[in-house]
Amino acid sequence: MSRFPLDLGSPGWEYAPAPEARTVARLDAGAQGRLFIGGTWQDAADGATFPTHSPATDEHLADVALAGGTDVDRAVAAARAALPAWSGLPGAERAKLLFRLARMLQERAREFAVLEVLDNGKPIRETRDFDVPTAAAHLFHHAGWADKLDHAGLGPAPRPVGVVGAIVPWNFPLLMLAWKVAPALASGSTVVLKPAETTPLTALRFAELCEQADLPPGVLNVVTGAGATGAALVRHPGVDKIAFTGSTAVGKDIQRTLAGTDRRLTLELGGKAANIVFADAPIDETIEGIVDGIFFNQGHVCCAGSRLLVEEPVHDLVVERLTRRIGTLRLGDPLDKNTDVGAINSPAQLARIRELADVGEAEGAQRWTADCPLPERGNWFPPTVFTGVSQSSRIAQEEIFGPVLSVLTFRTPDEAVTKANNTPYGLSAGIWTEKGARILWMADRLRAGVVWANTFNRFDPASPFGGVKESGFGREGGRQGLHAYLEPSADRGGIDG
Ligand code: NAD
Repeated sequence: MSRFPLDLGSPGWEYAPAPEARTVARLDAGAQGRLFIGGTWQDAADGATFPTHSPATDEHLADVALAGGTDVDRAVAAARAALPAWSGLPGAERAKLLFRLARMLQERAREFAVLEVLDNGKPIRETRDFDVPTAAAHLFHHAGWADKLDHAGLGPAPRPVGVVGAIVPWNFPLLMLAWKVAPALASGSTVVLKPAETTPLTALRFAELCEQADLPPGVLNVVTGAGATGAALVRHPGVDKIAFTGSTAVGKDIQRTLAGTDRRLTLELGGKAANIVFADAPIDETIEGIVDGIFFNQGHVCCAGSRLLVEEPVHDLVVERLTRRIGTLRLGDPLDKNTDVGAINSPAQLARIRELADVGEAEGAQRWTADCPLPERGNWFPPTVFTGVSQSSRIAQEEIFGPVLSVLTFRTPDEAVTKANNTPYGLSAGIWTEKGARILWMADRLRAGVVWANTFNRFDPASPFGGVKESGFGREGGRQGLHAYLEPSADRGGIDG
């Protein structure tokens, strides 16, 4: 007899395809491949471009301007020129513009959701229900702050930090943009944004939105390109603050470049989160939480619960239920509304996931792979679970940034804490247990910026998010996130609250 309350064995039914219309992304529209500098659309000074492709089909989507040093100079100059008027506006006027942007993003949510799917490869279910609404929520939240900065905890009349260089990764292109642009604009700062090279399209579409919302020219500038464009922005003496989200390796490089300068820096870097399951955890909710923790966005999530720590007595039960549940995930066309797991963002990222998965096997862990056919074109990796993983294994230590879960065990809460903290990272952690006191005891001892209890991957603009150790410093969201874009007023030295 089945041990499960519900037999999920296939009854032989299939979902009918439910594709979202790709035409709403308006890929053939206007100036979208050009740089947005000082309120105008410009080609790169040397005319260079680079292509962006769909990770799900390899289809060429657009050619985008490749910004060089001259373009970065122009963008920083435009942001500097716009700063006095923008920061001099009454907060309520900046709020109006941010509210307008938030509403316009909501009105065009479907277009942004589809465009993000095409450029990133993630499922429409996620861009529609998470990326775009959460980006809009950040704009709304910070619009509310724009006329209340006196209450941000920095004393009366805090000043904007100035010209912000914002550099974002490819895993949540629009959302990471909103995490930086919304507080910067609310504070009265101006921005030069550098989107990731594999996902530039929603940032350029957002610039269109800013133009239509009558945001003053130069308040937001977008320079597209790869690492060299980002590095030119980091080195630029006209930038007052760098807000970086990306890999720990690049974050360290940026920190070295800025050391000894008076420019401010926040780093949101990688992670290797422990998702810790005690024997008394409610099993069905826990399995859903584990799946969400590692397979959301194909595991391209800095705070992904990529190390599962299971209390020994329930290890076999958890693994059995988990693999059974993973077997029901639908991998394929990310524009299909029934798809759970989309494409890997780039061939380079796919190669890294394959390499680390092979290392896991070579180091002696047992590999289980969901039995799902992979599309012939595009970049795909099936949901994968490793059991019998040792703490020193590379798949327990390094960020894989893909749909790969490493399972380890523990016997006591102390051992769970020791193993969870045994990584250079410290971004997030999850605890699954029905005992409130144990949650508090664990949360006190886990070295992570965010600890979720009986849930995972919860985000709210009012709640600060960020890491410790090699996961970076600085917070995004909440009052703490706003502080990164403000200075106490000239007549006050310190921070209260
Ligand atoms: P990446 O560091 O390669 O690139 C991030 C951005 O930096 C891109 O725009 C890239 O073009 C730019 N860049 C690359 N080299 C640069 C340089 N030398 N100087 C300046 N800019 C440079 O990271 P990625 O592969 O795009 O993103 C994945 C990483 O981002 C993962 O490690 C993930 O954990 C991390 N991430 C962290 C958070 C967080 O909030 N902590 C959120 C999302 C992603």
